[in-house]
Amino acid sequence: MLNLVMFGPPGAGKGTQAEKLIKKYNLVHLSTGDIFRANIKNQTDLGNLAKSYMDKGQLVPDDVTIRMLESDVNKNSAARGFIFDGFPRTIAQAEALDSFLVSKNTEISKVLALEVEEEELIKRIIGRGKDSGRTDDQDVSIVRNRIKEYNNKTAPLKDFYLAQGKCRIIIGQGSVDEIFGKLCEAIEKQ
Ligand code: AMP
Repeated sequence: MLNLVMFGPPGAGKGTQAEKLIKKYNLVHLSTGDIFRANIKNQTDLGNLAKSYMDKGQLVPDDVTIRMLESDVNKNSAARGFIFDGFPRTIAQAEALDSFLVSKNTEISKVLALEVEEEELIKRIIGRGKDSGRTDDQDVSIVRNRIKEYNNKTAPLKDFYLAQGKCRIIIGQGSVDEIFGKLCEAIEKQ
């Protein structure tokens, strides 16, 4: 299996690149943000809970997020592999994902870390919010809080995956196709 983690701050281009990568490598795209938004739209209990955190730019608690992700992996038992987009976002989530994948006789192949300067992230997210209707993309103070959550809780995962020898760092500024080319190279070379 080819199991990839798209890693990086909000607005780094994880979702955009994941959409291109699933087509090229025939993978299943699991975006925890998208799954939460689908639950909010369908007004499920999980959606109501997630919304109370997402509206403040905070991370949803680990236990519900991990359970949801595992259940979506289990729904795709025939997959050639997965792109995890926006998951894991904490060390606890990363450890849970590692042991869950081991229980399925597989593992993470590579972690693709997209790096983008902070001011560029804010510009991109606010731009996206004008079309997407995402309320957490429209308010600068929520956006700044999401970046703060990333710096405090998610950024330390880079060292976690560097220690496993799986992390590849890619500069996420430039054209979408240029960045896609660099990601494919990182996936295909050892
Ligand atoms: P995203 O679409 O990846 O930017 O995620 C939007 C929001 O969903 C985040 O700001 C969090 O509130 C929540 N979220 C998405 N993925 C996770 C995760 N792995 N852990 C906790 N919260 C998450």
